[in-house]
Amino acid sequence: MVIFAENPLRVGLQQDRIPEPQILVIFGGTGDLTQRKLVPALYQMKLERRLPPELTIVGVARRDWSNDFFREHLRKGIEEFGGGLQKEEIWQDFAKGLFYQSANIDVPEDYKNLKEFLAELDDKRGTRGNRVFYLSVAPRFFGEATQQLGKADMLEDPRKHRLIIEKPFGRDLTSAQVLNHVVQNVCHESQIYRIDHYLGKETVQNLLVFRFANAIFEPLWNRQFVDHVQITVAETVGLEGRAGYYESAGALRDMVQNHLMQLFCLTAMEPPNSLGADGIRNEKVKVLQATRLADLEDLEQSAIRGQYTPGWMRGEEVPGYRSEEGASDTSTTPTYAALKMYVDNWRWKGVPFYMRTGKRMPKKVSEIAIQFRDVPFLMFQSAAKQANPNVLALRIQPDEGISMRFEVKTPGTSLRTRSVDMSFRYDTAFGQPSTDAYSRLLVDAMLGDQTLFTRGDEVEAAWRILTPLLEVWDAPARPDAIPFYEAGSWGPVEAELLLNRDNRKWRRL
Ligand code: NAP
Repeated sequence: MVIFAENPLRVGLQQDRIPEPQILVIFGGTGDLTQRKLVPALYQMKLERRLPPELTIVGVARRDWSNDFFREHLRKGIEEFGGGLQKEEIWQDFAKGLFYQSANIDVPEDYKNLKEFLAELDDKRGTRGNRVFYLSVAPRFFGEATQQLGKADMLEDPRKHRLIIEKPFGRDLTSAQVLNHVVQNVCHESQIYRIDHYLGKETVQNLLVFRFANAIFEPLWNRQFVDHVQITVAETVGLEGRAGYYESAGALRDMVQNHLMQLFCLTAMEPPNSLGADGIRNEKVKVLQATRLADLEDLEQSAIRGQYTPGWMRGEEVPGYRSEEGASDTSTTPTYAALKMYVDNWRWKGVPFYMRTGKRMPKKVSEIAIQFRDVPFLMFQSAAKQANPNVLALRIQPDEGISMRFEVKTPGTSLRTRSVDMSFRYDTAFGQPSTDAYSRLLVDAMLGDQTLFTRGDEVEAAWRILTPLLEVWDAPARPDAIPFYEAGSWGPVEAELLLNRDNRKWRRL
């Protein structure tokens, strides 16, 4: 069985293979992500027979847990957050491959013990020295853990050792460059898997298929036909007890630099030469390098931030951001961000890309909308004052699918027009839920396929675009310097003006 890609055309984005026997070592084994997402995703892959029988998972953290306690903890996670155990015998088999090793990231001695333990497991489980190390710990540990793994010679073989790093990768351009320098000193870029789980979503990958496997859209996908693009990632949740992280992150770091930028890249990039990891990632870097905020002299013309105040969500009163547990009562952390960007290349020159994300929005929804230009001259009476422009909406979540809005004649004797939608929905078309993003990404990393992971230069290019904004938004500010919006609304009024000034409106979702 081959795990390393010899033909990128065949390998990129394909997952019909089973990874080699290996050990997945999760730093942060007692943490939330491991219990809620990673292990339920792996178990789902086990149920679907997509994992090698020898797969061994070792949780690493400081707590003094036994293997049995660890297994029980993960079992509860699968029951509560995954699709349930489904088949007890499969769980029993899966559980035999789960181990726990207590270790402190800061203590070099602990890596020696871990190394010995993994070698013993190789003998016991037939995992042949293949390792994936997953850093599911706070970002401040990413550099230290990588360096210690390097010092203990646990990342020395590029064919056998890989490193997955959770987001966020850095908190600005400089820190991302420093972290890249640290990890690239220890391992080859081909060993590094920077995760952004949005890229694991079926609908995000479908963007590539939609654009490049259909002949009819690509000729329209440019400044000649597209008026503008809107990308929305809206959350209904508030802080969810994550003040420690969010107070110093805010919407730009939490959502825009990673998830929204990924959606933007796949929408705006040029067709890659191949579906191999580098074919796609080269194009993403190129488009990011051509992208800038709309007005660098007057940033208010390019970006609007906001913070939610108390409001109502589905009939329930919810607190404002500053009253959330752990948030400062004078905090200016943005929980909302709206951006206007331009791509200075032949395809997109002059076409605005508007992006928005926020917490406590009325709906959880992620969508990319391509709005086409108005018809040059309208000879019909329209229900609206003028014909509505065509909109192609790619729905990432929920109700995954694609819809196209166009004008039709309304029934009757007069020649009037109205907008209708032609829709495709994943669930009705395929009748099965799409693969969970983490399942997809974990198996890809075990297979050695980097297509859906972010390359070092790509992360830096995304940070570079946001740097002018981060410098302004990070500066100490008066508590009233940030626009407010009521929880349950679509953001501050200033964000409406960002589009109104261009005679455009945010889509109503
Ligand atoms: P968490 O629940 O706070 O878990 C942190 C883990 O780190 C715990 O297992 C903790 O275990 C371990 N840890 C802390 N200090 C350690 C040390 N010195 N040595 C060894 N282990 C140590 O965090 P999380 O929510 O799982 O998040 C993990 C990572 O995933 C973060 O980078 C986060 O940004 C990212 N992420 C999380 C989510 C999510 O939904 N949770 C989503 C996207 C990204 P001990 O206390 O036992 O040592």
